[in-house]
Amino acid sequence: MTLSSLTDTTTYIIQIKGLVQGVGFRPFIYRLAKTFNLNGWVINRNDGVLIKISATQGQLFRFKEAIFKQAPHAAIVHEITYEEIQKEEFSKFEIRKSSEVSDSITWVSPDIAVCKDCMNDLLSQEHRIAYPFINCTHCGPRFSIIRDLPYDRPKTTMDIFPMCEICTKEYMNVNDRRFHAQPVACNSCGPRYSLIQKGQETNKLESILDELSVGIQAGGIFAMKGMGGYHLTCDAFNQQAVEKLRELKNRDGKPFAVLCASLKHARKLAEISRHEEKLLLSWKRPVVLLKRKSGLAKAVNSGLDRVGILLPYMPFHFQLMERLTTTAIVLTSGNFSDEPIIISNQLAIDSFKTKTSGVLTYNRDIHNRIDDSVVKSIGTKTQIIRRSRAYAPSPIITELMTEGIFAAGAELLNSFAIGKGNQAIMSQYIGDLKNLETLEFYEESYSRFCNLFKFNPEIVVADMHPAYLSGSFAEKIAAEKQIKLIRVQHHHAHIASVMADQGLDQKVIGLSLDGLGLGTDNKIWGAEVMLADLISFERSFHYKYIPMPGGDKASQQPWRMALAYLYEVFGSEAYDLKLPMTKAIGSKKINTILQMLEQKLNCPEASSAGRLFDAVAAISGICYHNSFQAEAPMLLESVIDHSEKASYSYRLTKSEIDFGPMIREIYSDIQNKIPTSSVSAKFHNTQIEALTQTADMLSHQHRINMVVLSGGSFQNHYLVKNITDSLNKKGIKVILPESVPVNDQGIALGQLAIAAKKRSLGLI
Ligand code: ZN
Ligand code: ZN
Ligand code: FE
Repeated sequence: MTLSSLTDTTTYIIQIKGLVQGVGFRPFIYRLAKTFNLNGWVINRNDGVLIKISATQGQLFRFKEAIFKQAPHAAIVHEITYEEIQKEEFSKFEIRKSSEVSDSITWVSPDIAVCKDCMNDLLSQEHRIAYPFINCTHCGPRFSIIRDLPYDRPKTTMDIFPMCEICTKEYMNVNDRRFHAQPVACNSCGPRYSLIQKGQETNKLESILDELSVGIQAGGIFAMKGMGGYHLTCDAFNQQAVEKLRELKNRDGKPFAVLCASLKHARKLAEISRHEEKLLLSWKRPVVLLKRKSGLAKAVNSGLDRVGILLPYMPFHFQLMERLTTTAIVLTSGNFSDEPIIISNQLAIDSFKTKTSGVLTYNRDIHNRIDDSVVKSIGTKTQIIRRSRAYAPSPIITELMTEGIFAAGAELLNSFAIGKGNQAIMSQYIGDLKNLETLEFYEESYSRFCNLFKFNPEIVVADMHPAYLSGSFAEKIAAEKQIKLIRVQHHHAHIASVMADQGLDQKVIGLSLDGLGLGTDNKIWGAEVMLADLISFERSFHYKYIPMPGGDKASQQPWRMALAYLYEVFGSEAYDLKLPMTKAIGSKKINTILQMLEQKLNCPEASSAGRLFDAVAAISGICYHNSFQAEAPMLLESVIDHSEKASYSYRLTKSEIDFGPMIREIYSDIQNKIPTSSVSAKFHNTQIEALTQTADMLSHQHRINMVVLSGGSFQNHYLVKNITDSLNKKGIKVILPESVPVNDQGIALGQLAIAAKKRSLGLI
């Protein structure tokens, strides 16, 4: 290369893919081009951002570097490619109008918590003093208001608010932080809140804040429109109010999330590590599950040792918390039982106006319903429990060609996934499909994803379970489009989802522990030690099959599983056992269940980890009824005595792990009044030993030193931490997912990965 070629300018087309729309990317490129003295243009297209510049090689290199290093905080630069084209001369750098090309798509930005600059503007910008819908290119609603791509105001629910003159100026001024901020608005042109109380409507923000804070302080419950749906709220220190809120939500026992005024106040209510602090303060503003201190009303999280806390993410949250004397309020989804979170103003008013002290609403529509996300930290790693607001619909990049694959997901904690290029785009959290409204939400979201992401299904993949509604929907799509439908075993999908998330495509040892999933032998599975890759799996060990008296009822009533295990071990002597639960349940009911077990009536067999945890919780007298999914296992975990290192016995056969001996020892510990904290620790330690032993055996036999953990049971902090330590000691690496939950919300990704891999090999 001659010296002159380094200073010669060439014209380049640069394409940037990733999360580059709706996050202030074009103005960022514009400013960067100015600093580097480059001329040309930048344009938003539906497949990313395109730049044309004339530059020297050195300039191009530094420009690319700076794009990676200085991109706006919510942007994700996934790929920058460039090519030399015929030389052109430009006299300036400009931002050109968006255009739509091809069927490829760009990433849709998730919703972003209000930024610091905007919070400052609330105090100083004349037209936005205290304006509760303030936003800029770095913050504000995105996915929740978007109808179509490319992301422009007419394609969002902001379309009905014409910008005023000042906002238009800012929107057009490339040096302004609100340049092309699609939801830009101010006190004179944007959306407004109103509070409906006893048939009266208040529209002035000051009065709304006054009335709302007085009402909450007085123990009232309010429905409050958030970013992705309505919340229900009340003072989190007021036991009576929280109990009333539980009743309103149909006595739902699920822990409530709590919105704290600030990090400082959150510290008074929970222990917060460095990593947890980062999660709380991130622009995603998820609910973070933290170790609870005393203070909050007991009814907030029904005696669990963890409490979900989040910090304000909408300007209104800040304004309200500032006004209130209480420092924490409950922020739970506005719905009844398992129905989807309400987004329609009319439905919210009809549902809540008589049941609450008031309904706070605003006049901008939420197009895409999206719940708050829930995460927790394990050491310095983040575990996503519910992947929704601020996470969806960011794609998961895989090593596989996923185009055209629709994965229908599981049944209870449903999310579906669609494949585009090498991406898996997972839907927001949908929920339990057995609920009619939730199923409608699922079907509607699927068609919205098809439209938004220009998705055309070529293959459909679903769980093997014949009664899953996600499966029926998959069948319908396959029939309509006349395309292939494949079925994937639930626990194989669990392992594959972690593999896809972590870019693995080889044989691994999989530990798949959860509640229930249909197995290939038509029995219910749920504690599987397997050899798996993205094509198939081999079930090497499983927990011994135990009858579930009453089928599904046994999942809600852990005491039934306690009896199943005790009957398995003690046979007819089980009738004479002295148990803490006799008093609570009554001997008549207990005897009926024992008879059912004796006669094998309505007792489908299951190898479920969840049901074993249930049984032990009930035998120890910790929990007899699950008022929400996994309550008993969560309560059992929360009493663990961390200093107890002992464990119980178990029996290992060729393919079964039999915890009969452990059940016998637990029963005798309970008779001997050994504290439940110790029983729980020993029980958990036994699980860890048995799983480590079997995984280690497979590791030696097959020379694989990688264990993938998946399934809802691995939301158990103690289990994950200690099994990781014990496998690491054997030189075995432990793999957990980072971008998807280990619970059934992650299933769709596994289904998608298996279908993609099989297709690539011509197996389907
Ligand atoms: Zn902002
Ligand atoms: Zn305005
Ligand atoms: Fe599962």
